[in-house]
Amino acid sequence: MMNTVRSWLAPPVFEGDGERARLAGLINAICIVSILFTLLVIVGGLLGRRTPASTQVMNLLLLVLLLLCRNRLHGGQITLATLGLAIGGFAYITAVNISLGTIRTPSTATYLFWVLMMGAAFHIRGLVVSVVASSAAVMGLILAENAGMLPQPDYSVTVTQWVTYTVLFGLTAGLTYYSNQMTRDSLVLARREVEQRSRAEMELRKLTRAVEQSPASIVITDLSGNIEYVNPRFSKVTGYGLNEVLGKNPRILNAGQTPAGTHRQLWQTLSAGREWQGEFVNRKKDGTFHPESAIISPITDQHGQVTHYLAVKEDISERKQGEEALKAANRELSLRLVEIEGLQAELREQALHDPLTGLYNRRYLNEALARELVRCRRENAPLSIIIADIDHFKKINDSHGHQAGDEVLVLVAALLKNQARGSDIACRYGGEEFLLVMPGSTLEFAHKRAEEIRQKCVALAIEKGGTNLGVTLSFGIAGYPDHGQEADEVIIKADHALYQSKANGRNQVTVWRTPDELA
Ligand code: GH3
Ligand code: MG
Ligand code: MG
Repeated sequence: MMNTVRSWLAPPVFEGDGERARLAGLINAICIVSILFTLLVIVGGLLGRRTPASTQVMNLLLLVLLLLCRNRLHGGQITLATLGLAIGGFAYITAVNISLGTIRTPSTATYLFWVLMMGAAFHIRGLVVSVVASSAAVMGLILAENAGMLPQPDYSVTVTQWVTYTVLFGLTAGLTYYSNQMTRDSLVLARREVEQRSRAEMELRKLTRAVEQSPASIVITDLSGNIEYVNPRFSKVTGYGLNEVLGKNPRILNAGQTPAGTHRQLWQTLSAGREWQGEFVNRKKDGTFHPESAIISPITDQHGQVTHYLAVKEDISERKQGEEALKAANRELSLRLVEIEGLQAELREQALHDPLTGLYNRRYLNEALARELVRCRRENAPLSIIIADIDHFKKINDSHGHQAGDEVLVLVAALLKNQARGSDIACRYGGEEFLLVMPGSTLEFAHKRAEEIRQKCVALAIEKGGTNLGVTLSFGIAGYPDHGQEADEVIIKADHALYQSKANGRNQVTVWRTPDELA
């Protein structure tokens, strides 16, 4: 019940339209108090029993009009409802005065009430019109009364007048209070708005300063790409002042060097409402080119509609130059590295080879022999070592010179290399002493091979100045596992066997034999 009454009394709601809502609130208040006023006047008339029937009829007509106005107001027709109130109100008072036959103070006070209401609803215009209208109505009534055109009043101060006065005072005070209240509310609102605006302006000033001092170029365009703003950095980089580019398309910067797909992709991304990031080659006012990296994003209004595009760009000439220099340095470095690697490989080779004959040296042999022994041990395979020494080499040096000795060393080395199988390791072990490691070979096989080499050397008939030097080789052979487990042991025994060959007259092959075997 209370809720129904309250919702009947409440003004219509117009969301998002403050001015309309305020006016509707005011007119609703006027409707409601006027309805109450009329009800009270009707009740007062009934209690006083002296109100003419015609006046009571008009009171009832006014009540109906007020209800209609309230109904239109809630139907959204604010102006219609307000005009109905104004015209109906003035007509009612005038008619009541005529029917009573006199102008009475309550009537003039009611005019005053209506003047105030119209002032509140239609501002100064309402005030002027309603003052003029009431003045004309009162003037007309006075003239009519003086001319004796009105019926003689049958009316004296009664309850009706007392009630009417009281209600009018209350209504006028209420309306004044209500207007004052609304003025105060709107002042508070206005102050809040001013504060918000000045805060927003402060923010804007700070942001503007940041944009103007930004080390990045900033360009703002409208939806068609026409430039609306560029910051000082843009002018500094491109050479174009703000006035020279306003309204122009950033295409004026196009150096024609940006890949065609870049612009297409840029517009596709922006049209989809997304941010684009990439690089351009742009042309400055003086015609020079410079690469730029850019972030371009759509700016939207409060409804999410894209209104502008914002480009933040950075001149990357220096970075690009740096990258180029870095690339060149990198290329140079990799060339040098290849060279160094070649040199290192050469050095490694040299470190393991004898420079005169090209055979492996003793250092390599020690490593390789240890490795091969491990392998033979694992595979349970034999390994033979042949030591070959040139006979009476000193004599060649002495009679034909060191140079000739070197030539002989090279030829003997080549012979050994030729005779070595893939898995064999031929090396120069000392001055005129060579060593052939034969992984997987039995002593018998090594013996056969040494014999072949010995014969080949004789057949080679190395000569100097047309005379055969008679170069021969003596051999000593020992093997793993028959003559020792370690490399040193086997070599020492091969050396002993070589000594045997020398002792027995040279140019021969001796396989080391244990004392037992010798016995
Ligand atoms: P044997 O039949 O007992 O082996 O007698 P040999 O003369 O061959 O042996 P010896 O150990 O007495 O002499 C080896 C000589 O080889 C001594 C050294 O001057 C010479 N020699 C060592 N290295 C080189 C070299 O690289 N070039 C030349 N031309 N001679 C060298
Ligand atoms: Mg010798
Ligand atoms: Mg020797």
